[in-house]
Amino acid sequence: MKGRLFVVSAPSGAGKTTLLKLVMRDVPKLSFSISHTTRSPRPGEVDGVDYHFVTKSRFEKMIGQGAFLEYARVHDNLYGTSSDAVEQQLSRGIDVILDIDVQGAQIIRKSGQIDGAFVFIAPPGLGELEKRLRGRGTESEEAVKTRMANAKQELQAAKEYEYLLINDDLEQAARVLSSIVTAERARGHRSASGEPITSNYCK
Ligand code: 5GP
Repeated sequence: MKGRLFVVSAPSGAGKTTLLKLVMRDVPKLSFSISHTTRSPRPGEVDGVDYHFVTKSRFEKMIGQGAFLEYARVHDNLYGTSSDAVEQQLSRGIDVILDIDVQGAQIIRKSGQIDGAFVFIAPPGLGELEKRLRGRGTESEEAVKTRMANAKQELQAAKEYEYLLINDDLEQAARVLSSIVTAERARGHRSASGEPITSNYCK
């Protein structure tokens, strides 16, 4: 039985990375897809763990080779999801979480190739988002402004997602996201004729 894809998007600073770490800790048989990016590593980020950090020319070569399930330019950098890595996990029956922006989510939704569950994580408010972005101290003033402008646009896309989660309490939000994964696993998979054939319940 193939694994299920969970597509999670959030404006930068909504607390998605910490939230996903909690969910990965608590939910078994869930794999996190490590994206490729041309962004420079932040202090503490490790190549091959947080991202595959690659040069722009390497990224463009990968685009040419059709290596990405989706890719997008976000905040002036390129980010992409490797098709092979995701397919390998799904075909082994392992569920995969993609932490990607709203453009990437739209590409996957429109391609119709993979039946994913789409989750949008929103901050409690824009004021709180700006506070968090400044508080983490990794972004320049200009980067904070770019990310705030993008956040306003990204929030418009929240309505395209099946699940909306407001991250005002981290532990509570993690419980809700874990429950979404569990509930999705319990849904019957359907054959081409629409007949329920099996469920991933009890994984
Ligand atoms: P950050 O630079 O803060 O790690 O990520 C910036 C944005 O890029 C986030 O919204 C994140 O979800 C998004 N992102 C990370 N990896 C990918 C990817 O593979 N594809 C797309 N489309 N967006 C990604």
